[in-house]
Amino acid sequence: MGRLVLTFDDRHVAGWEAALPLFDAVGAQVTFFVVEADLLDEEEQAGVRRILSAGHSVGSHGARHRNAPQAIAELGAAEYLRTEIDSSVDALRALGAAATSFAYPNSRRDETTDAVLLDVFDHLRGGGPRTSDLAAARSAVVAAGTRVFPGCGFDTARGDVPRENDAAALSELLRELAEGGGTLVLYAHEIAPVAKGNHIHPDRLAAVLAEAHGLGLRMNGL
Ligand SMILES: [Zn+2]
Repeated sequence: MGRLVLTFDDRHVAGWEAALPLFDAVGAQVTFFVVEADLLDEEEQAGVRRILSAGHSVGSHGARHRNAPQAIAELGAAEYLRTEIDSSVDALRALGAAATSFAYPNSRRDETTDAVLLDVFDHLRGGGPRTSDLAAARSAVVAAGTRVFPGCGFDTARGDVPRENDAAALSELLRELAEGGGTLVLYAHEIAPVAKGNHIHPDRLAAVLAEAHGLGLRMNGL
């Protein structure tokens, strides 16, 4: 059976929480990768707890959104883990998250960072750009048992600049997933009709969820 994993990055707790009914509507569980977990205010902490109690998972996106290859080269693996990873995981676990997965900030990763981080996490997610090219999007589909997921973006816009329209390619990819199996991990950021940074419109998110649900894809988090 094909599996679709939806993930959302950074620190948009209020917008994510507002979108929980969209996931509930189709019984989907998703993953939120939180950055600056140790800096969350009380409201954000309460939001993360409510996201967890709704059955979703929360992973780490680093303490300060540092590029992993650069930080490991500069600090060494031990110091990178201490400053960028341990503090993030500790803060998330204090909120009740398992924090067994990690999404690379700015999608920067290499074999060295994978080796260092797979000692800490069960799963890692990189990132490729949102694309209307089906062949390119296909490269984000991986076999069961994979621990490092390429990831494919599905934000609808950054500020008021719309992203390339990926609807046709993504529809075809979801159909292929339903027929041929495999796992596709998509990622977005804020969930809102309008936002300054990268965001997905709730209507588009609802459409992807409905389509995947209709095809019988399994939707659970990392
Ligand atoms: Zn990020």
